[in-house]
Amino acid sequence: MSQAGYILAINILVAGLFASAFAWAATYEKVSRPARWIVAGFLLGMASFGAEWLIAVADDARFFVFASFALSITAFALFDAGLARAYRQPIPWTLLLGILAVSLPLNLAIYDMPRTSPVRDVLYQFPYFLMQMVGAWIVARAKSPRPLDKALGVLLAVSGLQFLVKPYLAVAFGTGDRPQAYVDTFYAVLSQSMGAVLIVAVGLMMLVILLRDVLAEATVRSETDPLTGLLNRRGFEQRARTIAQRLATPKLPASIVICDLDHFKSVNDRFGHAVGDKVISAFAKQLHDAVSENHIAGRIGGEEFAVILPGVDGASARLFAEGIRSAFAAAAIEGAPTDLRPTASFGVAELTRTDTLSDMLRRADLALYEAKDAGRDCVRVARPYFSGGSEERRALRDG
Ligand code: GH3
Ligand code: MG
Ligand code: MG
Repeated sequence: MSQAGYILAINILVAGLFASAFAWAATYEKVSRPARWIVAGFLLGMASFGAEWLIAVADDARFFVFASFALSITAFALFDAGLARAYRQPIPWTLLLGILAVSLPLNLAIYDMPRTSPVRDVLYQFPYFLMQMVGAWIVARAKSPRPLDKALGVLLAVSGLQFLVKPYLAVAFGTGDRPQAYVDTFYAVLSQSMGAVLIVAVGLMMLVILLRDVLAEATVRSETDPLTGLLNRRGFEQRARTIAQRLATPKLPASIVICDLDHFKSVNDRFGHAVGDKVISAFAKQLHDAVSENHIAGRIGGEEFAVILPGVDGASARLFAEGIRSAFAAAAIEGAPTDLRPTASFGVAELTRTDTLSDMLRRADLALYEAKDAGRDCVRVARPYFSGGSEERRALRDG
């Protein structure tokens, strides 16, 4: 087998491996739509390399030359469709089908042009260039692109430009006097190797980007409470750690509000767990509607919630808590008996110069116990430099 023949065989194998990898990625709901388009692209890519291989042994190469072009340019279009899906954009069908509609007959038409003609080479390669540029354009339109997205965009553009360089190489090295002779030329070795490198680079990067999306979704899911849609304890603590670093220098004001539903055990006992869940959801919705984007709200326990308010001092945080308290006490709960009037108690603490986030949390917790002691359905603010331990907390709770 010629050198280029070997590379072709490797390309078939590589495209097959990528098809399998993306088929596996497609089993993840989050990326299954883009992954399926890309699987189809790699399968056509395999078929295209197969057709290219058969050119060398065909009596009349016309069919295989066209088949290999048609399969690979369609594979590029399918890859672009997958890219559009991955970047949550509509598939640019008009553009993709337009390029196909022009390039397929064009490819047939140039078959009989002299094989040494640079014009023929340019016309042969130009559709590939366009398809890759469509891909680069899709990635360039990505909302809030990350370094990996930018790298993919650049890679696709480079891959596209590579097709414009090929005609020069074709002129420099020759593509063989007949299609059958192509595979034995040095040009074929160059062209197939460049193709192999770019397939691997683009395929790997795309795979990593899809897996990144899968991981991001899994992270969000592991940090979200399914009942309320708020952050769960893990998510809340994660976000709290991040914000703590941001608040450390320069020391900005910040407050925390801890909320606990009152006599919730008896709500469950009297009305059932399902009604209890409705109450939790209703409270979470009040909280969700009250917070803005830079606030961090989470369900940190069964019927316990917390909100971090960056940039907000204790007095304002108290007003914030009062607003939620009175709105919740007055709200009717959908699907719950009308004689159920749940309330919540609130503990507020402002971040002081000396304390850490966990100090602030502890002081808010103590303030919450004061609120419970004071008869519930009220807000209490922690004393600024009070840093009580568990004994003081127990003393507060037990009165
Ligand atoms: P307090 O006013 O002192 O806070 O009294 P409480 O009854 O609310 O406090 P306690 O901590 O004794 O009880 C909390 C209850 O919340 C116990 C638990 O069954 C209930 N709970 C925790 N998670 C859920 C949940 O997801 N759904 C429902 N329906 N109930 C829950
Ligand atoms: Mg409670
Ligand atoms: Mg509780």
